[in-house]
Amino acid sequence: MEGSPARIVEVAVFCPQLNLLDYLWAPTGAGWGAPAVGLRVRVPLGPRSTAGVVMGIKPTSPLPARRLRPVTEVLDRDLPPDLCEFIFWASRYYRVAPGLAFQSVLPPELKSLRVPARKLRVVWRAAGILPEDRMRRLGTASRELLAGLGESPGGCADHALAAPSRRLVRALHRRGLVLRIELDEIPERPETQKLPSGMIPATTPEPLNPDQAAAVRILLESPDRFDCVLLDGITGSGKTRVYLEVARQCLGRGRSSLILVPEIALTPQLTREADRILGTPPLVYHSGRPAAERDRIWQLARATQPHCVVGTRSALFLPLANLGLIVVDEEHDLSFKQQEGFRYSARDLAVWRARQLDIPIVLGSATPSLETLANVERGRYRQIRLQERAGAGQVPESILVDIRGQSLTGGLAPGTLARMALHLEGEGQVLVYLDRRGYARNLVCPACGWVAECPACAAPFTVHRLPGQLLCHRCGRSERLPSGCAQCAGNLLSRGTGTERIEAVLAERFPGAGVVRLDRDRVTRREALEAILSSVREQHARILVGTQMVTKGHDFHGVTLVVVVDADQGLFSADFRAPERLGQKLVQVAGRAGRGSRPGSVLLQTRHPEHPFFQDLLAGSYMTFARRLLEERRAAGWPPFGCLVLATAESANQEHARDFLAEAGRRLTAAAARGEWAVWGPAPALRAKQAGRWRFQLLVRAEGRTMLQRACHHLQNLQIPRSIRLHLDVDPYDLG
Ligand code: ADP
Ligand code: ZN
Ligand code: ZN
Repeated sequence: MEGSPARIVEVAVFCPQLNLLDYLWAPTGAGWGAPAVGLRVRVPLGPRSTAGVVMGIKPTSPLPARRLRPVTEVLDRDLPPDLCEFIFWASRYYRVAPGLAFQSVLPPELKSLRVPARKLRVVWRAAGILPEDRMRRLGTASRELLAGLGESPGGCADHALAAPSRRLVRALHRRGLVLRIELDEIPERPETQKLPSGMIPATTPEPLNPDQAAAVRILLESPDRFDCVLLDGITGSGKTRVYLEVARQCLGRGRSSLILVPEIALTPQLTREADRILGTPPLVYHSGRPAAERDRIWQLARATQPHCVVGTRSALFLPLANLGLIVVDEEHDLSFKQQEGFRYSARDLAVWRARQLDIPIVLGSATPSLETLANVERGRYRQIRLQERAGAGQVPESILVDIRGQSLTGGLAPGTLARMALHLEGEGQVLVYLDRRGYARNLVCPACGWVAECPACAAPFTVHRLPGQLLCHRCGRSERLPSGCAQCAGNLLSRGTGTERIEAVLAERFPGAGVVRLDRDRVTRREALEAILSSVREQHARILVGTQMVTKGHDFHGVTLVVVVDADQGLFSADFRAPERLGQKLVQVAGRAGRGSRPGSVLLQTRHPEHPFFQDLLAGSYMTFARRLLEERRAAGWPPFGCLVLATAESANQEHARDFLAEAGRRLTAAAARGEWAVWGPAPALRAKQAGRWRFQLLVRAEGRTMLQRACHHLQNLQIPRSIRLHLDVDPYDLG
C-alpha cells in the first residue's frame, strides 16, 4: 500500500475530564480506510490507552509534531456520524467533556476497548446466476468470488473474507451482482420482527375516537420534516393510542419511531399496547436492562429494518437507522433530566435531535411543563388538545380534607379511612399516594430531643422496618436501629409517616383487601414491578400504596378513590418550580381515578385548605393554573423567561467550598459589565452536606442562551483548587 498522507484527527477520548485531543492519523493496515467522524479508535493516553471517537479531521494541529501521538487502532465503525455530532453538541451545551457525554450514553460494549465480537452482521450473497458471456467479461478474481458465493446459499459473512476480497465484493455489489444483507444476530421474534417495508401490520384495535383521529391527522400533516407538537390531553384521553397510531403509520412507511417514557415502570404497559397496535413487540431499552441486552438492542437499532423503540432517556442515543418520529410521553416529568454527571434533559435534546434529523416530534402530557407551554405561546410548537376521556372513564371530583386538629392513623384522617371503607365495600380500588418511602420520617428521643442523623450528610435518618434499619436517603448509608437514645438512653419514637407504615396500618385496618406497595424499596427488580402492577390490574390487590411511582401514567380501571396523604408537600418550598411540580403531581395522581366505568374521587389531605393554590387547581383546569404560574415566572424572570446555570462546589472542607464560590461569584459579576447576567450566592445547597462533602451553590441567570454559555465559560476557566469539585448544571431542575 502506498503511504497515505498523515493527517490529524480530533478524538473525544472516553475520559470524564478531557476535551477533544489531537492525534496523528497514520494507518498501519488496510482495515483503516480514511479517517471519518464516528470511527471508534484506541488511542494512547499517558501511560495507558483508552477508547475514543473521531470527531474531526484537520490538516494541522496547533501542537508541535513531536507531541502528537498516533492513533493505535481502529476498533469499529459502529457510531453513525450524525449521532456523534448530536452527542458532541449536547456535551457543549451542557458544558461537560465530550468523553463524559459519550460514556454516559453508550452501551457498555462500546465504551470499552474490546473489539466487538459480532462480525456476522453483513452477509454477501450472489444476486443470481450470471450468463456465461457476462461472466467471462469479469476478472478472474471476481469470477472466483462470485462462484464461491454461488456455492453458499446462506451467503458469506463479510468478516470471513480477506481484505482484497472485501473490496472486490463491494465493487460487485455496486454493480448489482451481489446482494448485501444485514443480519440481526439474535432477532427477538423473527416471524413478526421483519415487516417488509411498505406494509402496515394488520390488527384490529378499537377505532380511534373523533378527537384522536383528528390529532393523528394533524400529526401526520408533514411526516417528513421537523415539527414539534404538544399533545395536551387530559389524563385518560387516550394519548398513548394516538402515539401508537402515528408510530404504526411511520413503520408502514418503513421508518422507525422512538417513544421515550420517564420511568421503567411505564414500559410494560406501553410495550403491551404497542405489541397490540403495531402487531410486533417494540424494542425496550433502558439502563435497568442487562449490559448484553443493551448491546444487542443497540445493534438491532442499527439494522436497516424499521423498529419501534420504547425506552427511558438513554434510548434517545440509540443509532436508529431511518428514524421517522420521536414521542416524549409525560414530557413534563423530571426524570427526563439526568441529575448527575452529564446533566442533560432528554426532552430538550429530543427536540434538538428531531430538528437535526428533520422529523416530527410529539410531546405528550396532561400537565405540560411551563417551558413547553411558553414555546407554544411563542409559536414554536403547535398544540393539539384532547379534552375528553377516551374509554368509559369520567374526570374525577376532588375533595379537600382539612386535617388540622384531627387524630391521624398512619397519616390518614378518620374521614379518609371512612371513605376508603365505602369504596372498598363498593368493589372499588383505592390508591394511596405519599412521596416518602420508609416507615417513619425520623427517629427522635422525646425526652431530650436527640434525632438519629447520618454522620456523613448531617440529615435525619429514615426509619425502615423491613429490614429494621436506619437509612440515609441521600448517601444510602444504613445503620442498625438503636435500642435507645444516644444521649440519654431514653426510649425512642419514630415520627412522621412513610409508605411502609401506611401499608402496615392499612393491612391491619382492612384485612382481606390486599394491600400492595409501590416504591423504590419494594421495586428493586423488574419482576417485582410487574407482579405489583398486575396484582392491581387483576384486582387481587384492592389498595395500592406508593410514592410518585404510582402517579405516572398507569391505567388501572378499578381505581375509584385516590388519597393524597400530604397535599402540602412542597407548598412552601423555596424552589420556584415547586408549585408547578405540586400541581402536576396532584393532577396526575388524580388522573388515576375513575378510568373504568365507575366515577372516581380524589381526597387531598391538607392543613391549608384556604390556600389559593388549591382553589386555583380545583376550580379551573390545569391550563388556567399553568397560565397563572407562567405569568408569575415572567414577572420574576425565572425560566422559561431567562435561563439558569447552577454551579455547585463540593469539598470536604466547608470553608474551601464557600470561599472558592464567593471569589468565583465576584469575578463573574465583575465580568458582566452591562448586566449580561446576575449572580446569587454562594449559599449552602438544600442538601448542604452529602456523603461527607459540603456543598455550596451559585445560581446564575442570563437573558439568553449565548450569554449563559459565556457565563459558564468564565466559571470553567477559573483556577479550581484540588480540594474542590465544581460542576455546572445547565437548565437545572433540582436546585438542591
Ligand atoms: P392517557 O395516556 O391519555 O392518560 P391512555 O392512553 O392511558 O390515556 O388511555 C386511557 C384509556 O382509554 C385506556 O384504557 C385506553 O385503552 C382507552 N382508550 C384509548 N383510546 C380508545 C378508543 N379509541 N376507544 C376506546 N378506548 C380507548
Ligand atoms: Zn434522649
Ligand atoms: Zn448520608
